[in-house]
Amino acid sequence: MSQIRHALSVKRSDDFAQWYQEVISAADLAEESGVRGCMVIKPWGFGIWERIQRLMDDRIKAAGVQNCYFPIFIPLANFTREAEHVEGFAKEMAVVTHHRLISDGKGGLIPDPAAKLEEPLVVRPTSETIIGDAMARWIQSWRDLPLLTNQWANVVRWEMRTRMFLRTSEFLWQEGHTAHENREDARAETLRALEMYRACVEDDLAMPVVAGEKPENERFPGAVETWSIEAMMQDGKALQAGTSHYLGTNFADAAGIKYQDREGKEALCHTTSWGVSTRLVGGVIMTHGDDDGLRVPPKIAPHQIVILPMLRDKPEDEPLLAYCEEVRAALAGLSALGEPVRVLLDKRPGKAAAKRWDWVRKGAPVIIEVGSRDMEGGKLAVLRRDAIWNMETGKSAFTYPQREDFIAGAADLLAEIQQVLYSEAAARRDANITRGVSTMDEVAAHFAEGQKNPGWVEVQWSKPTGAALDAVVERLKTLKLTFRNVPIDAPPANGTCIFTGEPATERVLVARAY
Ligand code: AMP
Repeated sequence: MSQIRHALSVKRSDDFAQWYQEVISAADLAEESGVRGCMVIKPWGFGIWERIQRLMDDRIKAAGVQNCYFPIFIPLANFTREAEHVEGFAKEMAVVTHHRLISDGKGGLIPDPAAKLEEPLVVRPTSETIIGDAMARWIQSWRDLPLLTNQWANVVRWEMRTRMFLRTSEFLWQEGHTAHENREDARAETLRALEMYRACVEDDLAMPVVAGEKPENERFPGAVETWSIEAMMQDGKALQAGTSHYLGTNFADAAGIKYQDREGKEALCHTTSWGVSTRLVGGVIMTHGDDDGLRVPPKIAPHQIVILPMLRDKPEDEPLLAYCEEVRAALAGLSALGEPVRVLLDKRPGKAAAKRWDWVRKGAPVIIEVGSRDMEGGKLAVLRRDAIWNMETGKSAFTYPQREDFIAGAADLLAEIQQVLYSEAAARRDANITRGVSTMDEVAAHFAEGQKNPGWVEVQWSKPTGAALDAVVERLKTLKLTFRNVPIDAPPANGTCIFTGEPATERVLVARAY
């Protein structure tokens, strides 16, 4: 096996962080921009994001949520109305203070002191405080509720440690914002959004997650409850892949989101917010990538099938291209995984092998090569990206079906690849959650140096709050560990609290995280 040549220079098992960076450049997903923490997303990377966006947007709309757009600039005063919110975000806000530049007399430009804004504007880090103003204008009576809005936008958070896709200073996301009559309705919406995220991320991105509630210390600033989906990356670390917040009446109180209730009395709305971001692309890389590059699940692949004619710059190219075009048209007329098949005939000049490896690194789910001998036999040479190498023999796993047979089975093949990628990742997640760890010493030993993939541990606890929780969080921090969430579908606690020895009330996941 060791003689197998791989398309990347770094293996996952040697240096996962370095491997991640190499996939991003080798698959042509994105590049550094020169602006701290901000990236340029290239066509293949943006195409994957657009697919995620499209599938999530369909789910958002199916739930009756309507898209809107709100300004990128938020008056500073909006933030100071909610104390916890501003405290949480103050450290990472970009602020606009001037609206004009003037010459500094040395060939440079400086902000014009005469063009100082009376009130600074914050570049939105999240939009509760401006959408709240709109909600206050739009809602008068219980008949206006629930109000269900969403926006697709960019946001800016001045992150100290950035990493492409996973944590950038500017990122793309959707943020749902809803207002309801009471706690019950708002909590139901919070959990609906969480379940929508779970379904989209598992079914469309083939990325298995654990859905649950975040402990108090991990709550969104100003939220009453924060729920998350957590995904396990191939190095065992956790990635918070999406969050959904029940905000109580905190933001309604700050922005005056009031309504006349069914008895004619004035009442505060209960609001929610929920978001997923371009971080999901990073999650796809670290869930499905291998030592040859990315593997994109068919549902989110911009091209699901790529056809590579083995062109030789000779007159014989013409019938070969015609043959490939017939195959392309037949595949494009099919439907797979509920949508028309996305197929590309890649006619760019260049050696077929070089182009093949290009698409292997990019992770197109199915790559078809066609040479004149394949054409004469009415065949195709087909490579499945979910299994390029036949690990038994170390040989590449091309198959050579008749073209009619391939076309007839193409939709099933794409569905199967989607399923294989999910099952592989789900098996890894399930195998790497350790249960029954009952002392902090055991936790420390489990995550001791030298353990390549310790995964996550589930411990039982009695849900400390306030200072008691802070103390526990500090203890975990010394081991570079964090609480992930209290899984929704975990069985009831039946042991003692790992921190206090009291009877446990819940199970909570502990892990290293991105
Ligand atoms: P939040 O509004 O803090 O709940 O964030 C919503 C979601 O955005 C999180 O669950 C993350 O998936 C994602 N996210 C937060 N910060 C960043 C960042 N700096 N870069 C990329 N994605 C982020």
